[in-house]
Amino acid sequence: MTVEKTEIDTLVVGAGQAGVAMSEHLTKLGISHLVLEKNRIAEAWRTGRWDSLVANGPAWHDRFPNMTFAGFGPDDFVPKEQVADYFVAYAEKFSAPIRTGVEVKSAVRNEGRPGFTVETSAGIIEARRIVAATGPFQRPVIPAIAPQDASLHQLHSAQYYNPQQLPEGAVLVVGAGSSGVQIADELQRAGKTVYLSVGPHDRPPRAYRQRDFCWWLGVLGLWDAAASQPGKEHVTIAVSGARGGHTVDFRKLAYQGVNLVGLTRAFADGKVTFQTDLADNIANGDANYLSLLDAADAYIARNGLDLPEEPEARHFLPDPDCMVNPVTELDLKEAGITTIIWATGYVADYSWLKVDAFDENNKPKHQRGVSSEAGVYFLGLPWLSRRGSTFIWGVWHDAKYIADHIATQRKYSEYGNP
Ligand SMILES: Cc1cc2nc3c(=O)[nH]c(=O)nc-3n(C[C@H](O)[C@H](O)[C@H](O)COP(=O)(O)OP(=O)(O)OC[C@H]3O[C@@H](n4cnc5c(N)ncnc54)[C@H](O)[C@@H]3O)c2cc1C
Repeated sequence: MTVEKTEIDTLVVGAGQAGVAMSEHLTKLGISHLVLEKNRIAEAWRTGRWDSLVANGPAWHDRFPNMTFAGFGPDDFVPKEQVADYFVAYAEKFSAPIRTGVEVKSAVRNEGRPGFTVETSAGIIEARRIVAATGPFQRPVIPAIAPQDASLHQLHSAQYYNPQQLPEGAVLVVGAGSSGVQIADELQRAGKTVYLSVGPHDRPPRAYRQRDFCWWLGVLGLWDAAASQPGKEHVTIAVSGARGGHTVDFRKLAYQGVNLVGLTRAFADGKVTFQTDLADNIANGDANYLSLLDAADAYIARNGLDLPEEPEARHFLPDPDCMVNPVTELDLKEAGITTIIWATGYVADYSWLKVDAFDENNKPKHQRGVSSEAGVYFLGLPWLSRRGSTFIWGVWHDAKYIADHIATQRKYSEYGNP
């Protein structure tokens, strides 16, 4: 193994949007650093997402402050490959010191001297500080209820690319956040019979009174919410930028031909059972939708804005049959289901980071990314500082805060050591 001769102040692990943002802020502050990425820059956008995915927010919003998307208008929804290209170009802009194809295997605190010893696939590196920017959505989660049935083709949404990759037959999509709902829609449009298992969700309007919901969340201060509301920790957000962007409307999906079912409960004897919560979940999603319209109307009135009224946004289609007479059990063979797609989310994986910065549930202990282990930082985590923390624009601001913290700590270290 090689030993890095140069002393690295800060080692950033991961070169997704979080790592690139971190590098920009460290560069601006003149802090020597290195970014290690086991794959390519923004790999998750290239191979961890399905082919037709476009950004869920418009180009004017889902970007870093210092660069627009070349070739796209502000209201366009940028395809995922171009989102990845954007981060590559962004990193080139300030010659970010990123080394790709190098995996960090472990990091341990040094005994009797400052810093950390980091084992990588290319050798050992010594660093004073570590920023874990390895992503909020690292390890796909498939719940334990998944059936042990070799005749079924099962995959996580992270492994779904397009309808052609699936075998003949109907598909059960479990989870109706932004991924599940978009995948179900795409499969139904491709001619598949689709069952979509809908749990608790929020579904903001794509746009209301000529403003995208990203704008509304911004002016209403909702992106800045510091913590998830109690009871809403597991509520996903169903939004879509597909086909120019549209509001996710479960009733519309049902009339289009997607079979909606409640939360998936269990698999046994070739059957799947669902909870009887479909109508409640949709009603709660409607309430969330309407509350945003109300808040938007109040904001417009309070500020005297000249934005046209949109009363039709409050009209819902009649409840489809699958809501009125919910299916609670399906025989998988009779329904022709050959594939299950688990759009059930991800967890982070910090098994390489062997430091005292985790609680008893293995969750990072931190305040705005500054961990309980001096010199270790987390970036990109959900709710790191606010609701926007996992989003492209949000991570940039969190990275700035962490870079400032590092600069302050360096001043303390330099005191008395000119
Ligand atoms: C389906 C989907 C759609 C999304 N759409 C949007 C959107 O439209 N707009 C938006 O703002 N956000 C969106 N997000 C959220 C977020 O922007 C992305 O998840 C984004 O990829 C997170 O960036 P990150 O840099 O924090 O993590 P990642 O992009 O996951 O980057 C982490 C990097 O770390 C590397 N890595 C991991 N472990 C190691 C190691 N041990 N050594 C070296 N390298 C390592 C990985 O290879 C990876 O490249 C979406 C998320 C998903 C899942």
